[in-house]
Amino acid sequence: MAVVGSESNPLRVAIIGSGPAGFYTVSNFMKIKDVHVEMDMYDRLPTPFGLVRAGVAPDHQKDKSVTRAYEKSAAYPGFRFLGNVEYGLHIHLDDLRRHYHQVIFTTGSPFDRNLGISGEHLEGSHSATEFVAWYNGHPDFADRQFDLTQENVVVVGMGNVAMDVARILCKTHAELAATDMADHALRVLQQSKVRNVYILGRRGPAQAAFTPPEIKEMGEFEEADVNVLAEEAMLDVASQALLDASQDKNTLKNVTAVQAYAVRENQRKPRQLYIRFLVSPTELIGEAGQVQAVKINKNELYTDDQGALKARATTAEEIIPAGLVFRSVGYRGKPLPDVPFNESWGTIANHRGAITNNDGSTVPGMYTAGWIKRGPSGVIGTNKTCAQETVGLMVADLAMNKHFQPTDTDPAAIEALVRSRQPDLVSYADWKKVDLAELAAGDASNRPRVKISNVNEMLELIRS
Ligand code: NAP
Repeated sequence: MAVVGSESNPLRVAIIGSGPAGFYTVSNFMKIKDVHVEMDMYDRLPTPFGLVRAGVAPDHQKDKSVTRAYEKSAAYPGFRFLGNVEYGLHIHLDDLRRHYHQVIFTTGSPFDRNLGISGEHLEGSHSATEFVAWYNGHPDFADRQFDLTQENVVVVGMGNVAMDVARILCKTHAELAATDMADHALRVLQQSKVRNVYILGRRGPAQAAFTPPEIKEMGEFEEADVNVLAEEAMLDVASQALLDASQDKNTLKNVTAVQAYAVRENQRKPRQLYIRFLVSPTELIGEAGQVQAVKINKNELYTDDQGALKARATTAEEIIPAGLVFRSVGYRGKPLPDVPFNESWGTIANHRGAITNNDGSTVPGMYTAGWIKRGPSGVIGTNKTCAQETVGLMVADLAMNKHFQPTDTDPAAIEALVRSRQPDLVSYADWKKVDLAELAAGDASNRPRVKISNVNEMLELIRS
C-alpha cells in the first residue's frame, strides 16, 4: 500500500466541531502541499461556523466576515461537512479509529462558569452563555425565557461577553432590528422594560478583560448613557506603576476610555449603563424564589506571590436592586466520551495540541485545537495560530507513522455508517440551501440574514 498522505492513499482526518478552530485546521492543512489529505468535518448542529454564528454579537457583523475564508476551505476538493451528527451519539471513537488516520477535536467551550455564591440558582439568574445563544438563534436555546420586564439588570464579569450582553440590553429596537438577531429575541427585546444595566468587575480598569473597541462602543448608544464612578476609574498605585512600566497599548486605551466616561456629562437618556469596578457579588437576594437584588462587596487590589494584582474584599457592602442577573465570568469545555479531560482547566488534556493520557504520554492519532485545547481566550483569529500548531504536529507525526491504523478508508463507507445512524445527515450543499434561504429573507427585510433557529425547520427546507 502506498504511503499515507500520498495521492493514492490520502491522509484521512476527522474534525469534530465546525467552529473557527475546525475551519482553521482545514486551511492549515490546505497549505501543506506535499501531503494529500481528505477531511471530514462533523458538527452536532446542521449549521457550520460554531461561535461565529451562535456567539459573535449580531451587531458585530464585520467579525462574521471570516466565514468567507471558511467558505473557501469548504470548497477544497478533499473536504466534506457532515452536519447534524453528534460525536458520542452517531459516531464514536472506535468508528473514527476504523475510518481515519487522525482525529482532531475542535468542540469549543460550551459550558459557563459559576460564581459559587448563594442565590445563584434563583429565577432570573442566568448565564450569559444562555442569553447569547438565545439571541443568536442557537436551536438548543431558542425556547429560553428571559424576563425583560425587569428594570434593573446586573451583568457580572468584565470581559467582551459581558460587554456584548450589556450592549444588547442597552440598544434600541431600531439598532437591533438591523442585525441578524433571532426573531424570537428581537420580539422580546422590543418589549424590554430594562432601564438600568450594571456591569460588575472585581478588579480595576487596568485589569479589565474587555478590548478597546468594545469599551469605546459603550459610549455610542442612541438611548443609553454610560456611567463610571470617578473613584473607581482612578488607578491604585500598583496598577499605575505596572501600566507605566509596561505601556501596554490596549490597557492604556481601556483606562483612558473608562476615565473619560467618569467625567462625561449624563445626557439623561432613557437607559443608564453603570460600569462598576472593584466590586464582587457575594449573594443574590431573592423573594419567592425570584432574584430581587445583588449584594456586592467593595474590593481592594493586592499583589500576590506571583506579582499579579488580585482582588480582595473590604468590609464595605452595597445592595443593587436587580430582577435579572447574568453571570459572564468565562466558559468551560465539555468532556467528550473516550477523550482525556483536564477537569481543573476545563479543556481536553493535551500538550501543544497532541492529546495526552494521565501519565502525560501522547495518544497517537488524537489531537485538539481552539478553546477546548487552550481554554476560552483570544479573538477568532487566535484559533488560526492555535490550529497551525496542532496541524504542524499532525504532519510531523504522520512522517513518523504515528497515527490510527484504519481498516476502511473509503469515504463512502463512513458516510454510509453515519447515515445508518443519522438519516438526516446534513452536507455542505444542504447547509447552503439553509444559508441562501436565510440570506434571501434578510435581503427582503434589509437585514444581513433572517436566521432559522429550529432544526426541524432547517431539515424541511433541505428536503424541499
Ligand atoms: P474573559 O475575557 O475571560 O472575561 C471573564 C471576566 O470574568 C473577567 O473580567 C474576570 O475577571 C471575570 N471573572 C472571572 N471569575 C469571576 C468571579 N468569580 N467573580 C467576578 N468576576 C469574575 O471571558 P469572556 O468575556 O467570556 O470572553 C471569552 C473570550 O471570548 C475572550 O477571549 C474574549 O475576548 C472573547 N470575545 C471576544 C469578543 C470580541 O472580540 N468582540 C466578543 C466576545 C468574546 P478577572 O480578570 O478578575 O479574572
